Amino acid sequence: MDGSAEPKPVRTRPCPRCGRPSVWRYRPFCSSACRDRDFLDWLDERHAVPAVEDDPELEPPEPAPSGAEAEDRSRP
Ligand SMILES: [Zn+2]
Repeated sequence: MDGSAEPKPVRTRPCPRCGRPSVWRYRPFCSSACRDRDFLDWLDERHAVPAVEDDPELEPPEPAPSGAEAEDRSRP
């Protein structure tokens, strides 16, 4: 009897994309597909960020149309 050959549980985090056990080669992902997809998402996120943020105060709100009530006086 040999009790020293106890298999140690591999301490790996699950794939952050699909939750499957990660592979050391692609860690922290489970495969190259998940790794590539995460990289693409990262790129999309960077491209989605506008270089100049829109300032809502730059454009004033449209003035309410005035003079509509003046037409009310011209009734028969
Ligand atoms: Zn995965």
